[in-house]
Amino acid sequence: MPVLDKIKAFENDMTAWRQDLHRHPEIGFEEKRTSDFVARTLEGFGYEVHRGVGKTGVVGRLKVGESSRSIGLRADMDALPMQEANTFAHRSTIDGRMHACGHDGHTASLLGAARYLAETRQFDGTVNLIFQPAEEGLGGANAMLADGLLDRFPCDVLFGFHNAPNLPLGHFAIRPGPMMAGGAFFDIIVKGKGSHGAHPEFSVDPVLTACHIVTALQSIPARNVGAVDSAVISVTRIEGGDAYNVVPNQAAVRGTARWFKPEVLKIIETNMRRIATGVAEGFGATAEVDFRLIFAPLVNSADDATFAADVAAEIVGEAKVNRARDLIMGSEDFSFMLEKVPGAYINIGNGDGANVHNPSYDFNDALLPYAASLYARLVERRLATNR
Ligand SMILES: [Zn+2]
Ligand SMILES: [Zn+2]
Repeated sequence: MPVLDKIKAFENDMTAWRQDLHRHPEIGFEEKRTSDFVARTLEGFGYEVHRGVGKTGVVGRLKVGESSRSIGLRADMDALPMQEANTFAHRSTIDGRMHACGHDGHTASLLGAARYLAETRQFDGTVNLIFQPAEEGLGGANAMLADGLLDRFPCDVLFGFHNAPNLPLGHFAIRPGPMMAGGAFFDIIVKGKGSHGAHPEFSVDPVLTACHIVTALQSIPARNVGAVDSAVISVTRIEGGDAYNVVPNQAAVRGTARWFKPEVLKIIETNMRRIATGVAEGFGATAEVDFRLIFAPLVNSADDATFAADVAAEIVGEAKVNRARDLIMGSEDFSFMLEKVPGAYINIGNGDGANVHNPSYDFNDALLPYAASLYARLVERRLATNR
């Protein structure tokens, strides 16, 4: 029987796990109930379980046979600080918390693969199941790495996936090389001198200065980065002032930058600092720039991307596998793990419905068997018993 059918036999259990996780969303580094559920479930399957790897992270290890080969499979566990708009029975029970990125489904999928692998044991080597906290911009991958993840649980190769709304259910999409952009957050604090709103001549206006900085920053992607390269600078927050008739002392410009090539990151950061401080100086104000790397670009190794696509094609057929998907300007912190150990990250279609980070989003439970089968077959083929 194909793996997909064997895993579909306990699809109802995976759906129950997923919907339970959906009812109890926890944001980054607060995944206490979630990681406890993961750890207890893995223990029940017979895994060697390590809790508290990177605060609330969990690693489950299963060794079969004598081979020294190893593989790491990663799923993220955190929810988002937002209010769910759905009204179905498994909606969030916690105000202001929602699994709006499908990490509940990623976790349930990896648990499904865990169950299958422990029951069938058709591999020779060590499987490390990595349940990561805090993917949503809070540094969960780096927290696990700083806690010695890859020293304590060495992996020859790493794989992960993300559900993809707008991609048909059970279709796969991947590309070799760079797939997702790097991401940074920035805060530019503009300091001037306040005054009465009727007498701007007595001020150094930080609001006007901030507005000029915002427009000037767009010259970086438009004029400094080559047209064939990708770069985004989005100012998403402007703050300053409390009254109609007071020029404030200070204003803040905040936002995010995205890129693929390291040299483009350098252009963005260097020029942002120069433009912000230079424009501020021109107005007699000052600007301080805090530019923080949050996500590295996600880069698939060519061999592992091909391998993951081959495994996906074995499960759903070549026609449902896109091996040359478009670049994604969104980011993903699994990239930091892939900087240490080669591997690949693949998208699996969530079917029609709301996009991730939307209050009406929900992970499609029908996707669970496809994702669990992918994880399971990645192990069985990478750690094949017949070599
Ligand atoms: Zn997300
Ligand atoms: Zn996500």
